[in-house]
Amino acid sequence: MTDHNFDLFVIGAGSGGVRAARLAALSGAKVAVAEAYRAGGACVVRGCIPKKFMVYASEVTSQLKTAKGYGWTVGEASFDWKAFLREKDVEIARLSGLYVTNLQKAGAKLLHGRAQITGAHTVEVAPTDGGGGDAGTYTARKILVATGGRPVRPRFPGAELGVTSDEAFHLPTLPRRVLVVGGGYIAVEFAGIFNGLGVETTLLYRGANILRGFDDDVRVHLADELEKRGIKVVLGASHRRIEKIGEGGLLSTLDNDLTFETDAVMFATGREPYVQGLGLETVGVRLNDKGAIAVDEQSRTNVDSIWAVGDVTDRINLTPVAIRQGAAFAQTEFYNNPTIFDHDTVASAVFSQPPVGAVGMTEVEARHAFGEVDIYRSVFRPMKATFYGGQERCLVKLVIRQDDDRVVGVHVIGPDAPEIIQMAAIAVKMGVTKSQWDSTCAVHPTLAEELVTMRDKFVPLNVEGGS
Ligand code: NDP
Repeated sequence: MTDHNFDLFVIGAGSGGVRAARLAALSGAKVAVAEAYRAGGACVVRGCIPKKFMVYASEVTSQLKTAKGYGWTVGEASFDWKAFLREKDVEIARLSGLYVTNLQKAGAKLLHGRAQITGAHTVEVAPTDGGGGDAGTYTARKILVATGGRPVRPRFPGAELGVTSDEAFHLPTLPRRVLVVGGGYIAVEFAGIFNGLGVETTLLYRGANILRGFDDDVRVHLADELEKRGIKVVLGASHRRIEKIGEGGLLSTLDNDLTFETDAVMFATGREPYVQGLGLETVGVRLNDKGAIAVDEQSRTNVDSIWAVGDVTDRINLTPVAIRQGAAFAQTEFYNNPTIFDHDTVASAVFSQPPVGAVGMTEVEARHAFGEVDIYRSVFRPMKATFYGGQERCLVKLVIRQDDDRVVGVHVIGPDAPEIIQMAAIAVKMGVTKSQWDSTCAVHPTLAEELVTMRDKFVPLNVEGGS
């Protein structure tokens, strides 16, 4: 053992960093975690968790609408954005506090301040705006970078007039109209939130359809469902400029010359690895061509004493993945238990309205990889909607490798899709075949039973087949 201040110095108290720090500390190692903002990271402070509270708040509108169909008389309802934000902030503070407590319970030391690597075993912590913090120079046997990512703002005249998700969690007032830019997770989730809260919402995406990377049926179906719920989806266009007009209004001019008057523009145009100011260049930590820290399968950088986990490594940018990467690092380095997190078949959910759950391959990916695949697909009105005459539709889709009957992709849109996909992911990860899948008896009446009762292969209508 050397006489470093710490065995492990973690930069960033988000999902990945905290999991690694706690596990390492529980092994008896001396651990410090530096955080410049608040413990919990993007997920807890300005990501998954507050986003889901906002989804819950916005879903109330559709529940109020359907209440009538179920025999309820509901009086005039109104939403108080400021009151919601207050409650949300209280809960986020509680959760962030739990991260602090859990670190302390494990025996790790939380340092407040901005950390910069100044040597292969040295980190300097500078005070953040709030004051002195735990400024100082610390040495450590191992350094783990877990600084996450931050929103990217596109560059064009007037782009500074828009906000990103960071600010969207704290808007002083709810705008009357909003233009959400992007077609990924954050864009479709926030479009649903704003729309549900009564904001006139337009979703602007530069490509042919939203949610690039998801199954094509999912992409088409979701865009359709968003429109049914009142979101205007504008595809194939980007901003040329944004200008201020009137009293707090904004005018967006697109590259197809269309213009939109709105009160707020929100950019959900991706996130980038947060590597700035970390001093990586000082010690020669290599970045990959996307500007993320390049790591091997055990999260090692090219510098012997430095590792990195989570979004800063831009592998799969999801909280549970960062947690597993952090845990694998701690197991390997502090428990003498070499562990590699398997990034294959990671399920994810989009908390759009309706939500999406997906695990495994899209139909196109599977066709490229295996040639012949079988598709089972069902589009139907959920039972809840048929009762009150709602027009929404669910989608369930299975992608099967013909060779060995293996289920290689499951895609669901509809209420509880995120919950459903978590369970489906277990079977897919275990290599379930379609006949095993079908031998599972349905749970009735549920949306999920549709997944185990699809017996007929889906045959797309082709050119000869008719319209
Ligand atoms: P994504 O990478 O998912 O989507 C970014 C979107 O912005 C894409 O539609 C992209 O278009 C578009 N875009 C990029 N640059 C521009 C530009 N200059 N002008 C116009 N459009 C642009 O990023 P998100 O911000 O939605 O999410 C970031 C990460 O956070 C994701 O990787 C996701 O894993 C994670 N996340 C996960 C959630 C969940 O699990 N539910 C929730 C929220 C975030 P194109 O497709 O053409 O590239």
